[in-house]
Amino acid sequence: MKLRPVLLALGSASLFAALGVAAPSTGSPFYGDAPDAHHPWAIHDQNRPQPPRVEPGTFSTATQPGQPPSDAIVLFDGTAASLAKWESDPKPGEAPTPTKWIVRDGALECVPKSGYIRTKEQFGDCQLHIEWAAPKAVQGASQGRGNSGIFLMGRAEVQVLDNYNNPTYADGFAGSVYGINPPMANALRAPGEFQVYDIVFRRPILKDGKVIDPGHLTVFCNGVLLQDATPLEGPGGHLRRSLPVAFPEKGPLKLQDHGNPVRFRNIWYRPLPPRSSEGGTDGVLTAEATAAKRRAIAATLRADAAQLAGTAQMLRLAESLVYEDEAATHAQVEARATTYAASIKALPSADRTAKKGEVQSVVRALQYLGKSAIVPASFAPRATLEAIVKAEGWDQVKK
Ligand code: MG
Repeated sequence: MKLRPVLLALGSASLFAALGVAAPSTGSPFYGDAPDAHHPWAIHDQNRPQPPRVEPGTFSTATQPGQPPSDAIVLFDGTAASLAKWESDPKPGEAPTPTKWIVRDGALECVPKSGYIRTKEQFGDCQLHIEWAAPKAVQGASQGRGNSGIFLMGRAEVQVLDNYNNPTYADGFAGSVYGINPPMANALRAPGEFQVYDIVFRRPILKDGKVIDPGHLTVFCNGVLLQDATPLEGPGGHLRRSLPVAFPEKGPLKLQDHGNPVRFRNIWYRPLPPRSSEGGTDGVLTAEATAAKRRAIAATLRADAAQLAGTAQMLRLAESLVYEDEAATHAQVEARATTYAASIKALPSADRTAKKGEVQSVVRALQYLGKSAIVPASFAPRATLEAIVKAEGWDQVKK
């Protein structure tokens, strides 16, 4: 294995950190259903990485913006300084200029006729938090009242509109995926008050013109679900039905100038990990991606085993076979299990008691490998050790 010298040079903890794999816990790895062709991890797999710690933020109230969680990337925090994260949205071929939108009372306010604005930062799939308020003084009707828009990657619009007492076409309602799908509810507060949008955005993925994943938008308004993973049909838009189109990996967040002084505050996002269709580890993977992941986990476990000794080393090598039944490791595990069973058998009964836990661990491992058809159920060392467990009464449940 080419990686091994590099891995050996690292300490065990840094080794697992470098590989992005959690160090194996002391719990038995031979437990839930084994990995299969589309799942690189066993059920309840001790090797599956722990979720990263995120310190939660605080929720916004009607009068006070909340605080973002610890890993959020803040795009507007109420200060004039954070205006520098935004710029004008220029016509093709033109350079962006500083935005003419203003910061007033902690909010980013649209200056009508100054044009759309966009973030300098570009990002793709995300959880986006954004709060907005339509002007308190009601003016206009339908699409003319408190209109703005939130354009994910500058393309798909989640509508911003004062629909408090203001009907309009449903697929252009506040919280609609504009031109694609109306919101499931109208949970708006009165104009002048801040509305809280929480959005989950997954961009469309096409390969060779074929839709791999249409992308989707989930939207909450003031805690009420408006869009439940609504599939995109392209970016959506005005008048024309849009068609599926590939999005790039990243794009800016854009806010619309629709001629109304709509205000925004507390804008932040958290990038999302890749989907399984992009080689990520969520859900069910392709057979190829699963096999690659399983090989990587097995290599990590073999590298860890190289730093162990004795029975612990044999068990870690046995564990690696669950992910990849690699020939040399397989032969080594069979040979060492055979030697181990013989050594236990040779011990006088009085000396076996101290080995009870260890023998039970080896039996559990061999039974698991048998269940997974990695070694035959009739594997001789397993039969030898099971007979010892029975003879010693270690299989009896204490009453
Ligand atoms: Mg709009």
